[in-house]
Amino acid sequence: MNRRVHIQTMGCQMNVHDSARMEDLLAPMGYEPWDSPRGADLIIVNTCAVREKAEDKVYSYLGRLAEIKARRPDLLIAVAGCVAQARGAEILTRAPAVDMVIGTHAMARVAQVVAERVDTGRPVVDTALGDTLPLAPLPRKRERISAFVTIMSGCDNFCSYCVVPHVRGREISRPPEEILAEVRALADQGVKELTLLGQNVNSYGKKEGMPDFVELLDQVHGVSGIQRLRFVTSHPKDLSPALVDAFSRLDKLCGRVHLPVQSGSDRVLAAMNRRYTVGQYLEKLSALRRVREGMAVTTDIIVGFPGETRAEFQQTLHLVAEGDFDGVFSFKYSDRPYTAASGFPDKISEAEKSRRLNELIELANEIGLRKNRALEGTVCTVLVEGASRKDEREASGRCPDNRTVNFPAENARQLVGTFVEVRIERGNAHSLWGRPAAGPDRTRAQEVTHAA
Ligand code: SAH
Ligand code: SF4
Repeated sequence: MNRRVHIQTMGCQMNVHDSARMEDLLAPMGYEPWDSPRGADLIIVNTCAVREKAEDKVYSYLGRLAEIKARRPDLLIAVAGCVAQARGAEILTRAPAVDMVIGTHAMARVAQVVAERVDTGRPVVDTALGDTLPLAPLPRKRERISAFVTIMSGCDNFCSYCVVPHVRGREISRPPEEILAEVRALADQGVKELTLLGQNVNSYGKKEGMPDFVELLDQVHGVSGIQRLRFVTSHPKDLSPALVDAFSRLDKLCGRVHLPVQSGSDRVLAAMNRRYTVGQYLEKLSALRRVREGMAVTTDIIVGFPGETRAEFQQTLHLVAEGDFDGVFSFKYSDRPYTAASGFPDKISEAEKSRRLNELIELANEIGLRKNRALEGTVCTVLVEGASRKDEREASGRCPDNRTVNFPAENARQLVGTFVEVRIERGNAHSLWGRPAAGPDRTRAQEVTHAA
């Protein structure tokens, strides 16, 4: 009899990828993917540990699963990913309904872990970290238009607030041949837009002595069928002139860069171990904007880092205004296990962190709205992803700079995967709205209709 596995994925794209991979690895054991916890025989919660709130969400979800298990004792529950790696066996004490704890590298061994649990009837904890890439990818079937391709895992940067290097392990890059084979397979199945994924893509290949990130970009850019190329995330300290130059050479490379700055204070940046100054960051930002007209740059900011004074926070506000960012992801600092900053003095109160966060969000929204309004009247090429979430009679897709664009379309679903020229009529805080711009063919078609 077939069994069913439901994987609940929290957190980033890496986790989405890891979950898909675990489904593949469990298939030979007879587990078929199931999209609801109800009716599943095995539930895996693939977790995020980057902020405390994300971890709290895991435990509250586990609480709900415990209720299901109380009614169905044969249900198996696993916690996988970053919280599993960070907390290990402690999870079994805090959430006794859990049967398996599967760390970030142990996800590659998910089938063995489940088999061991079934054979022994005892909880299994596997949090061993290896020095090979944990989850090599497989040919995938799900992606149609846009796909993410992992080019590296782990991180060696040890920013003082960040749990990632501790839970994902050391930086490991995938060989370029393997990445290219995956990209070609995706292009063959019709994928048009690719996002290369890593915690710090600019240091791709360095440790291994493989081609560097720009060489990899050149190779991926050469794969026919792929029409848009993106990457996340770049660390400002490693953003090289060669990468900036790639934007002038590679036309499929989309004009948007996510360049997390974290703070506008040099003292705070040093305490965060980011290894660049505000001045150096701004130089890289203007180099990016010089090389490509309309280059969109987004960033991450942490407010309320331990010891951050009101004046230092003001410096962050100044930087956000000066940076004229196209999007800002802002977070309240939270203590994470194993990190240096969790031991730093002068923690900022929750109330003050919330005040700073609100101020920052207000400023970022103001800038975002102004920049979106400035696009009114321009035409952009939208890669259609589906019907708009709010209105079935509208299609939704993205411009090369990754802004979401909605436009009226009776046949939104048929447009999926096509490119449509849209004239922007309205810039909103987080999206654009427009109408298809009449191309020469369309005008002619309309004239014919009128003549008839
Ligand atoms: N590798 C990426 C970031 C991954 S984490 C990079 O270096 O840009 C995504 C974002 O979460 C970070 O950029 C940071 O802004 C935020 N973040 C990480 N740890 C945090 C913590 N302890 N508290 C609050 N925000 C945090
Ligand atoms: Fe975390 Fe810094 Fe690595 Fe990004 S670069 S994952 S913030 S340690």
